[in-house]
Amino acid sequence: MPPTLPEHCRSCAAPLANPDFQGPREHYCKYCVAPDGAVKPRAEARAGIRRWMIQAWRLPEDDPTLERRLDDYMNAMPHWGR
Ligand SMILES: [Zn+2]
Repeated sequence: MPPTLPEHCRSCAAPLANPDFQGPREHYCKYCVAPDGAVKPRAEARAGIRRWMIQAWRLPEDDPTLERRLDDYMNAMPHWGR
C-alpha cells in the first residue's frame, strides 16, 4: 500500500486532517462551503483566503502584491485552477 498523503481543501489548501477545518462537504474545508454543502462562489472564497493571507503572512491590507498573489494562489488550487 502506498502511503496516504494528508488531504487538503481543494479550494484553499487548508489541512483537512485537522478537525477545526472539517465541514459538511468531503474534500473541502468548512470555510469554503456554505451550510447547504455548496462550495462558495469564487469571490466569497477569495475574500476568505485574502483574510487568511493578511493574517498568516502578516501582510498589510494595502500590500501591492496581495491581489496578484491571491490570484496565483487560487489558480494553483484544484477547484479554481484554469
Ligand atoms: Zn477551504
